[in-house]
Amino acid sequence: MEDVLIVGAGPVGLMLACELGLAGIRPIVLDKRPEPGDLPKANGLGGQIIDLLDHRGLLERFSAGSPFSGRAPGFPFGSVPLRFAGLDDIPLRLLMIQQPRLERLLAERAAELGAEIRRGQEVVSLAQDEHGVTLGIEVGPGVEGGPGAGDGPGVEGGRREVRARYVVGGDGGRSRLRELAGVGFPGTTDDEVLRMGHFAADVSVFESPQVSGLQPGWNRRPYGRVLLTSLQPGVVIAGVREKGAYSGGPVTREEFMAAVRRVLGEDLPLGKPIWLSATVSQARLAERYRAGRVFLAGDAAHLFPAGGSALNVGMTDAANLAWKLAARLRGRGAEWLLDTYESERRPVAERALMQTRAQAALDRVEGEDGEALRALLTEVFAHEQAARHLAAMLHGSDTRYGSGNLPGGEHPLVGRFVPDLVLADGRRVAELMRAARPVLLDLGGGGTVPGDCAGWIDVVRARCDDPPAGALLIRPDGYVAWAGTDGLAQAAGKWFAGAPAHA
Ligand SMILES: Cc1cc2nc3c(=O)[nH]c(=O)nc-3n(C[C@H](O)[C@H](O)[C@H](O)COP(=O)(O)OP(=O)(O)OC[C@H]3O[C@@H](n4cnc5c(N)ncnc54)[C@H](O)[C@@H]3O)c2cc1C
Repeated sequence: MEDVLIVGAGPVGLMLACELGLAGIRPIVLDKRPEPGDLPKANGLGGQIIDLLDHRGLLERFSAGSPFSGRAPGFPFGSVPLRFAGLDDIPLRLLMIQQPRLERLLAERAAELGAEIRRGQEVVSLAQDEHGVTLGIEVGPGVEGGPGAGDGPGVEGGRREVRARYVVGGDGGRSRLRELAGVGFPGTTDDEVLRMGHFAADVSVFESPQVSGLQPGWNRRPYGRVLLTSLQPGVVIAGVREKGAYSGGPVTREEFMAAVRRVLGEDLPLGKPIWLSATVSQARLAERYRAGRVFLAGDAAHLFPAGGSALNVGMTDAANLAWKLAARLRGRGAEWLLDTYESERRPVAERALMQTRAQAALDRVEGEDGEALRALLTEVFAHEQAARHLAAMLHGSDTRYGSGNLPGGEHPLVGRFVPDLVLADGRRVAELMRAARPVLLDLGGGGTVPGDCAGWIDVVRARCDDPPAGALLIRPDGYVAWAGTDGLAQAAGKWFAGAPAHA
């Protein structure tokens, strides 16, 4: 029996594989696609996931060649500009990286850490009992064990079964695993279609920015909105958003141009399409994140109706779940620890749903009412406090997990992502988190790891200016489990030695 099967080699499934690999678990990742995805869906990452990549020492590797990596200069909040000029200490960072490259780098890293990625394998059935989960898989043509390849052990006519102690569905918004596990996905579907395309640049679009009075960025018209932008030389990104339904088939150039004509009333001089797609935004949240030994993460658990949050929330879901699964598999975590995945992460998705629904509404509302709302909020967003509040929300730094009612739990850092303190020896806290192990950072307040956690928690004794606490106990996902001077043994025992939840 395997330890963990991950369904879906998208960014979330692969992030989970990396995190499990660091914890010494060798997961198997199953993906129905025979090859890595090449759709340029997301253009980048924003928020706490960037801090986490920094913790893992991956930031340099992931930002190599990126057109932008750094503090966010602003953010189009539902088409109302949010500007962070002069706010050099806001937490929100952006890393422009195309999704296929992100997936390739994550897959490389997961493989380095011992994960096995099996492509061309579609999960079609699920059965679970108290010991494990059995997945039925359809193996694609041309894949070892697939149709026509002859039956191997456990393989019959292109079908096989795999069994594991835990299964995680990172299989996207239309998650089959979620459906097989009987978990509902309530929410709403937008009544607008967004058609997007990357086009070989016809520079005339940008040399004449006044084509149809268009400006780079989103342009609002009575029948919809048109996007024109470019993130790399030679490629124009264009988008058209209009009321209507989408049948689900591939988008053709003719269909895209017809949508442009409906909204603008004229053609755009766009070059040859490199890639075209259509999506309808949805706002949905899984009824449960856990069904027995099956967990959901990323788009399988939540869909947000506006951009910028999906990968941040999804990939940090993975980091939250990985260390808990690993602890349980190693006999160190109690069963309740696995339940904290949902109790910690669902509120994060609820909050992201709230702000992305607000963005979608702000973007959608038409006519003079819409103009007035956007004008008013443009004024409000110019206030520093509003900009800081939204930056923290978009970043995820306003997330605070429960303290577990432990001594020291009232410290303001408990339940928060650890600040990136610079220690007297020059190291940053991020550098202590490379191995994704729990760290006791003793900043002069003392503290001894109890015997049952020794060898599991790394102890770092250091000094820094203005220490925020005598000591910090940092979880593998970067969150502070405990801070202060009293109650370390209880906190360490609770989180890292399998003590009962209410000890
Ligand atoms: C046009 C567009 C632009 C976007 N821009 C951004 C952005 O800028 N920032 C951002 O954060 N997000 C953005 N998103 C959203 C982002 O792409 C998704 O949130 C992200 O892909 C979700 O990752 P995931 O790993 O959860 O799921 P997915 O990426 O959907 O991966 C799921 C994987 O599961 C596999 N799979 C599905 N079913 C099965 C099965 N039964 N058996 C085996 N394998 C299966 C699929 O083949 C796929 O590889 C954008 C999306 C689109 C469409």
